[in-house]
Amino acid sequence: MITVDKTAAGPEPREEDGSKRPLLEVRDLHVEFHTRDGVAKAVNGVNYAVSAGETLAVLGESGSGKSVTAQAVMGILDMPPGRITKGEILFQGQDMLKMSKEEHRKIRGARMAMIFQDALSSLNPVFTVGFQLGEMYRIHQGMSRKDAKVKAIELMERVKIPAARQRVNDYPHQFSGGMRQRIMIAMALALEPDLIIADEPTTALDVTVQAQVMDLLAELQREFHMGLILITHDLGVVADVADKIAVMYAGRIVETAPVHELYKRPAHPYTRGLLDSIPRLDQKGQELYAIKGLPPNLTRIPPGCAFHPRCPKAQDVCSADVPPLYQVTEADGTDLAGRASACHFWKETLHG
Ligand code: SF4
Repeated sequence: MITVDKTAAGPEPREEDGSKRPLLEVRDLHVEFHTRDGVAKAVNGVNYAVSAGETLAVLGESGSGKSVTAQAVMGILDMPPGRITKGEILFQGQDMLKMSKEEHRKIRGARMAMIFQDALSSLNPVFTVGFQLGEMYRIHQGMSRKDAKVKAIELMERVKIPAARQRVNDYPHQFSGGMRQRIMIAMALALEPDLIIADEPTTALDVTVQAQVMDLLAELQREFHMGLILITHDLGVVADVADKIAVMYAGRIVETAPVHELYKRPAHPYTRGLLDSIPRLDQKGQELYAIKGLPPNLTRIPPGCAFHPRCPKAQDVCSADVPPLYQVTEADGTDLAGRASACHFWKETLHG
């Protein structure tokens, strides 16, 4: 079996003031795309951090900037047409935007890995899964074909693929969608990375399989003491696995909170709308709530709060002034650690 003892590597890195240094820190990131329609401002000043052993869920509709931010972190953004115009991406304290392509590639191969939504198109149909898993060891660790196959079987067992020894010579199309996604997870785990970014890892799966794959990811994340960033449009799938959530809209983070607090008491009308859109058993027979309208065209982001054309709470100030990310507190001013909301009326939303 694969054994990982990350604590054996020594104490976790600390800042000068003694606080734990995040594994990954995204600071004031700005990304734009040059399109025929004009400049699409896809990411507009995103800040987030994730530590070893922590799961951050990044949530938003398509076009919110969540996947573009992740691609910038992984160094796989298409440039051009994309362009990182500002910001820092610190991985274990080093700014990845200042690294050469080769340095970035080394980190991406060994210390951070990504899981994509569509396993079938991410796996090569003409090679067996055993060959593709073993390739990680042959390329990165110079292992022999035979040893790499043994490792591939171990990995398949680790992600709970039944009869791994027999199935190692099967091709991707011979596996179900859920099993293929497990193979993607195995590939991401192969080199025991410090950070995994999973971009909509369960969207293509049915609900029961979604839950199994999420549970497996959470279990492995705990065991390997990795940082995990889960990108999703579905608040329903992250409740039991994430520690904290960053909600994105039109390229900005509009709310951050520890996961259970966000579910209990959102402090932004957009988050409230997303929560109200989750189907509930006690609503049987009732029409499902949906946030009205569509996310904005990123070449023409509305002035003020970008959400104002869709917001049921919007007032005059909302179309004029961009709300900063306010620190969220209790009504008596008590600090709520890790909570912030980019809404002029967060108090009314939280306490109302
Ligand atoms: Fe709605 Fe205004 Fe808050 Fe934006 S700032 S979310 S428009 S109430």
